[in-house]
Amino acid sequence: MSFKKFSKKFAATMTAFGFGAAVSFSALPVPQVSAGADALGIGIGIISGVAQMSQANKQIEILNNTDEGQQILYQSFVKEYGKNDDPELNAKLDSIMKNLSKAVAVVDSSINDKPYLYFVSADKSLNAACGMGHVMMVNTGTFNHITSDDEIAAIVGHEMGHGQKDHVAKKVKKHINKATLAQVGAAAAGGSTLTNAIAVIALKQSMAHGDRVQETEADNLAWEYMLHTNYNIGACAAVQQRFVELFGSKNSSNFLNPSDHPDSDKRLANYANKLHEYSGKHVTAENGVIKINGKVFTTVAATSKMSSAERAYFVFGNLAATYHNGHSKSQATVSGNTLMLGKQPIMTVESGDEDINTLAEKLNAIK
Ligand SMILES: [Zn+2]
Repeated sequence: MSFKKFSKKFAATMTAFGFGAAVSFSALPVPQVSAGADALGIGIGIISGVAQMSQANKQIEILNNTDEGQQILYQSFVKEYGKNDDPELNAKLDSIMKNLSKAVAVVDSSINDKPYLYFVSADKSLNAACGMGHVMMVNTGTFNHITSDDEIAAIVGHEMGHGQKDHVAKKVKKHINKATLAQVGAAAAGGSTLTNAIAVIALKQSMAHGDRVQETEADNLAWEYMLHTNYNIGACAAVQQRFVELFGSKNSSNFLNPSDHPDSDKRLANYANKLHEYSGKHVTAENGVIKINGKVFTTVAATSKMSSAERAYFVFGNLAATYHNGHSKSQATVSGNTLMLGKQPIMTVESGDEDINTLAEKLNAIK
C-alpha cells in the first residue's frame, strides 16, 4: 500500500489533465449552498436540465475518484487551512495513518485502490476532516489538545469512516441540486470552472461533517478499524470523555460539529457499550470507577494529563481485550509498575492509584 504525500509532479499532471487553472479557485464567488439558495428561490429549478446535472456529477466523480481530483482537493484544503511541516507532528500522523490504513484494508480493501492523501493543517482548533478523494487533514490544534496517539487514532478512524463511505461526495451531490450553479454560468459551466465550484462546495461540506446517520456510521467504523490495530480500543470512549470535559456533554468541537454530530455523551455511551459487549459483559466503567462482574475493582486516579474518567477508559479497553482474547483465565501478576493479566497489560499505576499488589489481589478475587 502506498501512502501519498503531495508532490510537485502534480502540477504537470493536472495541466495535462486540463485542470491547470483549477486549483486557483479563490477568485471565484463562493457558490451559495442549500439554505441560501432556497431562500433566494433558486433551488433545483435553476439547474436547467439533465445535461448540467450529469456534467456536475461527472466532475464530482473526477474529484472524488481520480488522482488529479485528489490533488485539486488537497490543494484547496492546504490553501484554506495552511500546512504545518513540523517534523514531529508529521511523523506522528504518518505513523497513525500507516497503522489505520492497514486496519481499514482488513475491513474494506477498496482503500488499496484509493489511499489517503493527508497533512497536518496549521489550524489551531481541535478538528480533523476528510474530504472527497480521501483527502484528510488533522489540525495542529488536535495535537495540542490531545496527547494520546490512541485518541488521535480514534479521531482519524472516524474521519476514515467518512472517507470509506464517500460521505462528502454524497453530501455534495445533494447540495449541488440546491446550489446555484447559475453563479458559475450554467450554460458555460464545465471543465475547470465547474470543477472549481464543486471543489468549493466539497470543502465546505467536508467541514460541515455529515448528518447524524453518517456520524454514527463513522463512529462505528472507527471502532471496527481500531479493533484491527494495536491501539487501545478504550481510546474511542476516552476521547469522547475528553470532549465532554472540554466542551460539555451537549456540545462539541468541530470534529463533533454541534449541529451535525450526536451529543458527545451519546457517542460516549455508544463506545462504552461496545467495550462492555467486547468484554463479554464482564466489565464496566463509569466516572472513573471500574467494575468487573458487578464488583468494584478500583477507582482510577487522575493524572496531570487525564481525568480519572478518561484514563479509566484505557483500563477498560485493556480489560475488554483481556476478556475477549481469553487472557482473563490467567492470574494477575505485577511487572514493575504494570498490572498484567496473562500477556495483557491492564494498567500502569501512577501516584494516586491503589497499590499495585492490592490491585493484583483484588483482580484475582473478582475476575
Ligand atoms: Zn464526523
